[in-house]
Amino acid sequence: DTEREICIGCGIAIQTELPGELGYAPASSLGKEQIICQRCFRLKHYNEVQDVSLTDDDFLKILNQIGKTDALIVKIVDIFDFNGSWIPGMHRFAGNNKILLVGNKVDLLPKSVKHNKLINWMKQESKELGLQAEDVFLISAAKGQNIREAAEAIDSYRQGRDVYVVGCTNVGKSTFINRIIREVAGGQDVITTSHFPGTTLDIIKIPLDDGKSLIDTPGIINHHQMAHYVGKQDLKVITPKKEIKPKIYQLNEGQTLFFGGLGRLDYTAGGRRALVCHFSNDLGIHRTKTENADDLYARHVGEMLTPPNTDELDTFPELVKQEYTIREPKTDIVFSGLGWVTVNEPGAKVTAYVPRGVQTMLRKSLI
Ligand code: GDP
Repeated sequence: DTEREICIGCGIAIQTELPGELGYAPASSLGKEQIICQRCFRLKHYNEVQDVSLTDDDFLKILNQIGKTDALIVKIVDIFDFNGSWIPGMHRFAGNNKILLVGNKVDLLPKSVKHNKLINWMKQESKELGLQAEDVFLISAAKGQNIREAAEAIDSYRQGRDVYVVGCTNVGKSTFINRIIREVAGGQDVITTSHFPGTTLDIIKIPLDDGKSLIDTPGIINHHQMAHYVGKQDLKVITPKKEIKPKIYQLNEGQTLFFGGLGRLDYTAGGRRALVCHFSNDLGIHRTKTENADDLYARHVGEMLTPPNTDELDTFPELVKQEYTIREPKTDIVFSGLGWVTVNEPGAKVTAYVPRGVQTMLRKSLI
């Protein structure tokens, strides 16, 4: 180990064997005076942040590091997968640092959703999960909605400190960072040669105009994300691409709805009523009698009830159930990472199913 070659962008040790992993650079770049890893290369030349795979230990190291600094933390969540995109224990990792919570993908919400209600729910839910956010913002990183407002808030809350952006994979963190880069750096050369002190962690610094930095941390894997149970192709089906169109089903007691093969709702008691389903427009909803539902699922998951598809069934977890009694008017039954069903009148009894590991919950309707 004579001379270890390191990336001039982030300081990571260069390796040439594993594309997509930390510190990868093509072998042809070895021996050059200035070596840059592929991730930094993409950031530099395309203003594009590339995700790399890390282990849970790597994440812990990075998160623990944040608590030791004096910084503002910007935590991004996917509003369609609030719980699945939560970083457990973030308030402990944050140390004394303040946290701004940013809910992304607001462009997908149906027009009927009140942003204030969503913000209040996010505040309340964070508090219950132990995190006291200084402020909550809703943005669309993809569409640019509220980006300027978020950037301004970040600037006023940071009070001359560095900013760490944290989030689980798939929340849109890269999209957000790329937006912010364009906003802050105006598409300039954003690679700094000053490394994060004493580490070779996979973080990227974007210089701010007062000498401080906005620091992109790698996407954290939350093993309870629905996204981890489906393939890339299926992820496209369950991830809404544009504003969700609510679908209304008139149900009798003893009827069941399947959401692809990923979720199921049995309507057990409460008289005939309307259930309003909010899922990706591409996800097939299938109605059947509850008495036939187990059998139907066993025979048709992966075909009629898809995603998952047939070659994913080996590793796909079983559906597990949770019973709920709806006691409040206008309640959402939330299927984490998939969508939600709104029940307008109290008094309904339902059973919600999701793959083992994924969560269901009730919340006050956002409409
Ligand atoms: P990361 O893993 O957190 O870095 O997430 P990415 O930035 O790669 O985004 C994950 C997925 O969410 C991609 O399919 C993006 O196109 C999509 N996405 C990101 N931001 C938004 C947004 O504001 N609205 C919508 N509809 N999709 C978004």
